[in-house]
Amino acid sequence: MNFDSFVGNKSAVRAVRMAAENGGTGHAWLFCGEAGTGKKTLASLFAQALLCGGGEAKPCGRCGACLKFLKGAHPDISVIRKPADKSFILVEQIRKVREEIYIRPNESEYKIVLIENADNMNPAAANALLKVLEEPPAYAVFLLTADNERKLPETIVSRCRTVELFAVPLPEAKDWLSRRMPGADPAELSAAVLYGGGNLGRSLSFLEDTAVRRGYEQALELARALTTRREFDVLEALAPFEGDRSGLLRLMEDFDRLLGRVAACKFRTGQTDPDAEALSARISPLRAAALHDTLDELRSALFYNANCALTAALLGARLKTVMETV
Ligand SMILES: [Zn+2]
Repeated sequence: MNFDSFVGNKSAVRAVRMAAENGGTGHAWLFCGEAGTGKKTLASLFAQALLCGGGEAKPCGRCGACLKFLKGAHPDISVIRKPADKSFILVEQIRKVREEIYIRPNESEYKIVLIENADNMNPAAANALLKVLEEPPAYAVFLLTADNERKLPETIVSRCRTVELFAVPLPEAKDWLSRRMPGADPAELSAAVLYGGGNLGRSLSFLEDTAVRRGYEQALELARALTTRREFDVLEALAPFEGDRSGLLRLMEDFDRLLGRVAACKFRTGQTDPDAEALSARISPLRAAALHDTLDELRSALFYNANCALTAALLGARLKTVMETV
C-alpha cells in the first residue's frame, strides 16, 4: 500500500506525503476522525514513508526498511495501544516511551512512536506524554490517533499538527470495497456501502462481523415496527435490550444512522437504498428529524447512567408519540 492507494481524504494525504518527502515533519501529529475512517492506516503509511530508504515515491514497499516495517520488526518505531484487559493506555507504557525516546534511532533518521487511540490515555499517562512532547529530541516523531480528540488534554492537542479524516463519497467507498472483496455478492456490497455511509471501516465490519450485521437488522426491525403502528411490534423490537446497556446504545446509533438515510433517500442520486426507501413512505424527513432528537435526548440519559430497562421502555413510547404527532 502507498499514498496513492489511500481512498479519499486527499488533503490529509497531501499533508503527510509532503512532510514525508520534504522532511521538516514536526514532532507530533494527531490523526483524528470517526472510527473506521483510516487514521491508523494513514499514520502507519506516514511512519513507513519516514523510515523508507527507497527512491522518491515513499514508502517504496521494497527496501530493507519497508520490509522490516511491514513485518513489524523495524527497530525505530514503537506502537503503543491500550492493553486488551485494560480500559486505558497506562502511565507505565508512556514512561517506557520516555525512557527509550532518548536513545538515538538505530537505522533511520527518525524514531517514531505511534500511539493508537491516544484518547484512551488516563490522565497520568497523558501528563507523562505531555512532558516528552514539551522537549522531544530532534529525531523524535509522535503519531497519535484519536476517535474523539476532545477527550485529549488541550495541552497535548496544541502541540500536535492535526490531520482530520472524513467519510469518503459512496461511489469511492463502493469501488474500494469491491476491490477489497472481489467475490462478494453485489447486493451485499451495496448494503455494506450504505451502512458505512462512506466510512470504509464501518462498511467492512458490516461484511465481516456478524454482530454488526445483526445490530443493523435489529435497528431495521425497530424502524419497521414503528411504521406498522402495532404496539406489540415495537415492544418486541426493544425487548432484547432491556438489560443490555451497550447493546441499546448501539441500537440507537444504528437506528439514528438509518434515519439519516431515510431522510436523505429522496435526494440521493445514483445509489438506490431499498431499506431506507421502504421506510420513507411513513417516515418523512421531518419525522426523521423529530425521531433523531428523541434518540439524542435518551442517548445522553443512558450515557449518564439512566436505568437501561426504563430507557428502553421510554424509547419505545417516545418514538411512537413522534410517529403519531409529527
Ligand atoms: Zn522503502
